[in-house]
Amino acid sequence: MILMNGLKNAFNQNKSIKILIIFESMKIAFFSTKVYDREFFDRYNIHHEIIYFDAPLNEQTVNLANGYKAICAFVNDKITANVIKDLKNNGVQLIALRSAGFNNVDIAAAKANEIKVVRVPAYSPHAVAEYALALILTLDRKTHKAYNRVREGNFSLDRLTGFDLFGKTVGVIGTGKIGQIFCKIMLGLGCNLLAFDIIANKELEATGVEYVPLLDIFQQADIISLHCPLTEQTKHIIDANSIGMLKAGTMLINTSRGGLVHTVAAIEGLKSGRIGYLGLDVYEQEEKLFFNDLSENIIQDDDIMRLLSFPNVLITSHQGFFTQEALTEIAKTTLSNLDDFEAGKVLKNLVV
Ligand code: NAD
Repeated sequence: MILMNGLKNAFNQNKSIKILIIFESMKIAFFSTKVYDREFFDRYNIHHEIIYFDAPLNEQTVNLANGYKAICAFVNDKITANVIKDLKNNGVQLIALRSAGFNNVDIAAAKANEIKVVRVPAYSPHAVAEYALALILTLDRKTHKAYNRVREGNFSLDRLTGFDLFGKTVGVIGTGKIGQIFCKIMLGLGCNLLAFDIIANKELEATGVEYVPLLDIFQQADIISLHCPLTEQTKHIIDANSIGMLKAGTMLINTSRGGLVHTVAAIEGLKSGRIGYLGLDVYEQEEKLFFNDLSENIIQDDDIMRLLSFPNVLITSHQGFFTQEALTEIAKTTLSNLDDFEAGKVLKNLVV
């Protein structure tokens, strides 16, 4: 039945198809799914049997994967060595990540258990780069506060003063797909761009971005935006030591991974004034909070509650990727990764 629907959809979408490669439908368990995941995957899925679970994938839920050949996971699913062992015992052969980052997967354990891991290396780098700008402009010009004030009939401008971005020094850590686009956006606004990456991008340099040592970024930037992955080298790249080097009032933006910023050090940095503005779309302990409506719950995480008490902190729930274009690309690339696996083809988005 699923196969028949798949064929029907394929014909509906492309009348010129004469011969179809017939895929056997593969059963895939999707973890941590929300309404929007189902909407986009159902729109583009032709021949797989997808079972959506609300539950995240972790040591408590892994047995839901029993009988599935593949599972699909997202950024806060904790795919530890134990989870991988249990996935193997449940017959899973493939972990399809519907994200670019894979820091939540024990890659060595996946390799040792011969479970393949694929990802979506780029879905919309523009989405995240543009979102970093949204955080900067909101923190700077306080549009979120102005919106609330005006709706309550308060037309005062008191304490809404911002600053021009033109002429400011922006430090970018990580100039891969997202970091590059972010640099170009900020160059367009007339900022001076300093960058740090383990590999300098010559093309970006030619546009006016200056690669400098990390220390120079900490000491000279008015705004620092993080666009590197979370690795052993980058974990807590923003800690008490680096915060101690910042100019007073520096704006720090993290749209990358929560673990790049030492949360308690950031709180101290806000109290001392070294951090003048903090924009976080990711948070070190986000897996217990983000993507869920906890408005009627007692939040047990004291660090996030302290952060939320500062007037110059803006936190959002990992929504940098959340555009129509990115959700489309995530669904299409993930399904194509699953097709390739099922057809025994080379996996072009293989992590391990
Ligand atoms: P990318 O792989 O294209 O670029 C990462 C860059 O970081 C590379 O140029 C790499 O050389 C550099 N890098 C690696 N180690 C470094 C180090 N120690 N110091 C400095 N630079 C280092 O990745 P991308 O697509 O640009 O994504 C960047 C990050 O953004 C991802 O790792 C992911 O964590 C995050 N992300 C967040 C969202 C969101 O919704 N907020 C969405 C997608 C990606």
